[in-house]
Amino acid sequence: MVRARRGSSADLWVATAVYDRRFAMSAASTLLTFLHTGNPTGLKFLVEHGDARCLFDFGREHAPGRTLFSLGLEPRHGSELGDLLAVGAAPPLEGVYAGDAWDGRTHLFITHMHLDHTGLIPLLGPAVPLYYPAAMEPVRAAADSSGYLPWRHPTGSGVADGETIAVGPIRVRFVAVDHDVPGATGFLIETPDASLAFTGDHRWHGLSPELTEAFADAARGVDLLIQEGVSLGSVSIDGAPLPLHEADAISELGRALVEAPGLVIVNCYGMNRERVAGLAAGCAAAGRRLLMEPQMAAMSGWPDVLGSTDPIRDDPRGHCLQLGFESLPLLIDLQPPPGSVWIQSGGSPMGPFDPAYAVLEAWSARFDIELQTITSSGHSRPEDVLRMVTTVHPKVVLPVHSRAPEALVVPGVPSFLPKAGVAYRVADILAGVSSAPSG
Ligand SMILES: [Zn+2]
Repeated sequence: MVRARRGSSADLWVATAVYDRRFAMSAASTLLTFLHTGNPTGLKFLVEHGDARCLFDFGREHAPGRTLFSLGLEPRHGSELGDLLAVGAAPPLEGVYAGDAWDGRTHLFITHMHLDHTGLIPLLGPAVPLYYPAAMEPVRAAADSSGYLPWRHPTGSGVADGETIAVGPIRVRFVAVDHDVPGATGFLIETPDASLAFTGDHRWHGLSPELTEAFADAARGVDLLIQEGVSLGSVSIDGAPLPLHEADAISELGRALVEAPGLVIVNCYGMNRERVAGLAAGCAAAGRRLLMEPQMAAMSGWPDVLGSTDPIRDDPRGHCLQLGFESLPLLIDLQPPPGSVWIQSGGSPMGPFDPAYAVLEAWSARFDIELQTITSSGHSRPEDVLRMVTTVHPKVVLPVHSRAPEALVVPGVPSFLPKAGVAYRVADILAGVSSAPSG
């Protein structure tokens, strides 16, 4: 049995949930509860109708230097769930976690493999029905077998794009979107009295923008659009280079691989298989052998794993390495010659907001290795967030997964900023956006 710790803010949430469950059974209207608004990450929410309950995404918040478990602090071995509950990093749900009998109601739907959407799955009870896009299976299986994210067993069901899963009166349709991992999906959710669309993480500047566009078309006219807004409120700095399309990032990497006279090290994310494939093609064209660390090689499906550093030290111009932040001390053995570069291409630290970034800069300075950033965001740019909302033209948009949800202003489409832990009746959101709670 999972219980919230006394004196934590979770107590209030539990009281609300108990009340709403009774209400749901008597009134049988659609309820929407954000367990975490994902501002900026860790989004998860419930859609309920009567006894049916669908939970969307089940990740851990990623905010290095700000969340309690970050900068190397991890939940203690053997008390992971209790520790995460105690600090509010896991929602206090009964009948969902391992060690607790399934409540017979909750069904979990996952949009994609990123840890801020999946990080709690190792703690999920074995009987909870779990659905995820079938196209993410290769990265899911690799993350599980390599130990990157030990998945719940049984593993759940891969669902084909376009398929619908019925949970009592709630119907959840998988509709693919383009993101920077394979198999990302959005959801169209129908209940007896409401239609909702959840974009999931997505972008319009990747290699398959037609997927995102098709999602927008399929979602047209829904009651509520739950909109990812990671880029909202980002300030463009005068003179800064424009954010790259995925195709541009891949060709820029290719250029660096040809031009750099020394070793090229790329800190990319193995799950981004399109980026890795582009990098591998660039290496082939530049006459470099690409070697990757074991977990990232597994997740990207790349066969060449980094072993001894000797051949690389002997022939830096003939190699390209994928290395993560934790492997920076390998520079001591690699002795990269002048003209070597370290390229940040999607691996953490993702930017100066992460305290680890200054450490990366210190290593780069000490070993006289040029630090570059060549990447393409997995998230829609602000103008593309607007494009999604205007194309879908929902009755109400709920901007979430964002540092600045209030920055979304779309003429003719009212915004509703949900609070975490409040069970909203969808009918109430639709009836009175201006009078409903927001902020
Ligand atoms: Zn993502």
